[in-house]
Amino acid sequence: MRVGNKALIKELNRSHVVSTIRTHQPISRTEISKALNLGLSTVTYITEDLLSAGLVFEKGTANSTGGRKATLLSFNEDYGYAFGVKIEESQVIVASTNLNAHILCKHTLPFKRTTPPETLLHTIVHLIHRIIQETKIPASKMIGIGIAASGLINNKQGKVIRSTLLGWEQVEVRKKMWEAFNVPIFIDNNVNAYTKAEHKFGYGKELDDFLCISIGAGVGASLFLNGNVYAGHHGGAGEVGHMVIKQGGYRCHCGQKGCLEMHASERFLESEGRQIKHLYPESSLREANLGFKQVTSAARSGDPLAKHLLRKLGENLGIGVLNCINVFNPSAVIFIGEGLVAEDFFMTYTLDVASDNFFSKAGCEVTFQVSKLGDDAWVQGAALQAIDHWFEHPINEESRLLLS
Ligand SMILES: [Zn+2]
Repeated sequence: MRVGNKALIKELNRSHVVSTIRTHQPISRTEISKALNLGLSTVTYITEDLLSAGLVFEKGTANSTGGRKATLLSFNEDYGYAFGVKIEESQVIVASTNLNAHILCKHTLPFKRTTPPETLLHTIVHLIHRIIQETKIPASKMIGIGIAASGLINNKQGKVIRSTLLGWEQVEVRKKMWEAFNVPIFIDNNVNAYTKAEHKFGYGKELDDFLCISIGAGVGASLFLNGNVYAGHHGGAGEVGHMVIKQGGYRCHCGQKGCLEMHASERFLESEGRQIKHLYPESSLREANLGFKQVTSAARSGDPLAKHLLRKLGENLGIGVLNCINVFNPSAVIFIGEGLVAEDFFMTYTLDVASDNFFSKAGCEVTFQVSKLGDDAWVQGAALQAIDHWFEHPINEESRLLLS
């Protein structure tokens, strides 16, 4: 580290103070000083600066055992705002949020599956402009836009490399959006975005390392490591859906056979249901309707085929989860996704299999949780890409260059 770069050190200290207030608010200057091992006079100097900028404000006093009560500082979550966008298979959700990723305004617009990417990005630009007009927030306060979509996404380059669900190949999302708004643009896989929300609002709040596993139309995962989502070299870390769990199993759209995705997602309900339906002539399930919703509803009515399919799915998912635990040794596994609608019928089997992992035999247990965040977590997580970046500045960019 270069010494003597006063401007940089000042910026770094300022950034640390802001982050501490953001995470631990309301907090006194003395507590900030202790938490960061910074002199009280330095903290006071920085907080005066932050107060006059309007980024923090004084609110209440701390209980004290004697002497003057300490004034507490809180972070002004309305100082700026971000946008979170989730591109789904046939609809796009756009929301503005404050700096705590709380949603201020949200719009959903359906689109045809054949819509070209350029047209859809144009629609997103239009929706963002509409929200800016409706909420009358000055455009100058927009700190960035975060987008979440399915598929292989290179978040460093800001592009979708391939999304089978959307039929996209090599789409330069950041470039298009930057041209329209001139603010930092981020794009990531939707499971990674949700994982960010889980870290901020959910079970992942106190954890440095955990794994989110999504169950729905496919199976996906995201690894939260050392305070951030691990992206992998091409941005594709977490493609556990294509981990082979059954030799000679169902053929996957990726070209392999026996992928976890083919044995523990909606695709399994369809393939296996079609295969064994003749053994359950009394079943109410029809071939065309073997999605999570239909199968869960049938299971609730006691349909034996539905119950059998969900039990098998649960066991298969358990094998995938067990393998993930053995590879990553996370402190917790958090389940997310629309497949959780059938949780009552498969989770016991999943946990039975997954709990019998390498680490449990040494007494090192993994915690299992089912996410309690609602659907808004997807766009909130998308917005958090921009918000987290804004708070990391300047540590992320200039300082890395200067410190190297
Ligand atoms: Zn596959």
